[in-house]
Amino acid sequence: MSVLDLARPDLLALSGYSSARLEAGRDGILLNANESPWPLDHAAPLNRYPDPQPARLRARLAELYGVDAPRLLIGRGSDEMIDLLVRAFCRAGRDAIVVQPPAFGMYAVCAAVQGAAVRSVPLVRERGFAPDFDAVLAAVDAAVKLVFVCAPNNPTGGTPSRADVLALADALRGRALVVVDEAYVEFADAPSLAPEAGSRDNLVVLRTLSKAHALAGARIGCLIAAAEIVELLRKIMPPYPLPTPCVEAAEAALCAKALARTGDHIAATKLERERLRVALTTIRGVREVFSSQANFLTVRFDDAGARYRQLLARGIVVRDVRRYPGLEDALRITVGSPEQNAALLAELAQRLEITA
Ligand code: PMP
Repeated sequence: MSVLDLARPDLLALSGYSSARLEAGRDGILLNANESPWPLDHAAPLNRYPDPQPARLRARLAELYGVDAPRLLIGRGSDEMIDLLVRAFCRAGRDAIVVQPPAFGMYAVCAAVQGAAVRSVPLVRERGFAPDFDAVLAAVDAAVKLVFVCAPNNPTGGTPSRADVLALADALRGRALVVVDEAYVEFADAPSLAPEAGSRDNLVVLRTLSKAHALAGARIGCLIAAAEIVELLRKIMPPYPLPTPCVEAAEAALCAKALARTGDHIAATKLERERLRVALTTIRGVREVFSSQANFLTVRFDDAGARYRQLLARGIVVRDVRRYPGLEDALRITVGSPEQNAALLAELAQRLEITA
């Protein structure tokens, strides 16, 4: 039994596009890719196609995440990894994914684009939006190929126990992949499951440089999975997905000096998260502030719509999450800099005076 037995059979037979850079690397007199021989002299040389999976960045990310490089695939954000997984594992009109709402919206969007069904197993509101993995297991039939677990979860901020996620993966071995989206894991107390993706072939972990590493504009994210899954996804990716300036930005963000700064920023965000959480609970009209393992706080208000508009009128933009099940009175607030958070609190307190 191979984990690829879960993939679309038609893709297994496909030989992916063989790009010039893949066939011959980038040393020598390069006359094989119909590129211009003349780099623009006002910019870093961009006349050559980039490596499909730049080896230096891949090695660096593998080291950072504690995994072997062949198990790691770099793409344009974890968004692209979600899309690739759904396209590779779900046959249109036949297969399905499991999501646990309130959940990150892209899982269901990618499934809809692919023509895959979406089975919803809601987080349990009465237990602080904890997952119900027994219900997830019960929802997995032969059609389900992917189970998405967001840890920490966007938009509720909680995170499942590592032991429970590993037990879920073990229980689904040979039946479905468990895809653990760790976009916010740097802000959590518990460490990443990425190293575990090496020992379980149906456990896939998604990481990103968009959040803690302050690189959302470069669009660099990773999938960590069994090497054969990485190879399968490479076949359906475009030939040169990673723009050279973005690869360079990612390398710069991973040098020792930048990583030290990132560590400071993560610590500052966690401190601000706690300070903001406590301060928000004292604001009139705040019903509940969810505890969070991520870089945002989800907050229930007496009148979330009015609060949203009030903040917007002052140029403070938070996320309206009232469309999510169970969050009909909530807004999601990213933890900003101390100055930004102070501005937010000042505006919310202002409202208190007006309505008092
Ligand atoms: N997963 C989750 C849970 C997210 O919140 C986001 C960003 N909103 C992403 C994935 C996508 O991140 P990116 O594509 O920037 O890596």
